[in-house]
Amino acid sequence: MEEALRDMVYQFGYRGVVDGKPVISTGGLSTLESAFEALGWDDPYVLSEEGNTCEIKGCMNEISSGQRWGKYYLRLCSKHGSMAWKNKRRPPVKEYAIERELKRDKTTGFLNQ
Ligand SMILES: [Zn+2]
Repeated sequence: MEEALRDMVYQFGYRGVVDGKPVISTGGLSTLESAFEALGWDDPYVLSEEGNTCEIKGCMNEISSGQRWGKYYLRLCSKHGSMAWKNKRRPPVKEYAIERELKRDKTTGFLNQ
C-alpha cells in the first residue's frame, strides 16, 4: 500500500530543486497533499540526488532517459540526453555514476555486484 502511494507520488508530484537538493512537492493538489500526509512526508520532500537527478556533474534536472554517452551508460535529463543523442562532448559525470559504471561488465553490459 505504502509502495503504491509512493509510486503515485513519484509519478504525479512536482519536481524541483530547493537549496541545491532535488525535491518533490504536491503543487498544492489536495490528492497529493493527502498522499504526502499518509506517507509522513514534508512538502516539499527532499529526494536523494542519486537515482533522482541527471548524472552530469552540477545538473539537478529530473532524469528523462538512460543512454550510452561515450564509455558510460547514464541517466540523463532531457537537455543532456539530447546532447548525448547528438554525440556532443560529454561534460564531467557525477562520482557515483562513474563508480557504478566501473562495475559494468564490458561484454554483457550488466552491472556486476
Ligand atoms: Zn542534465
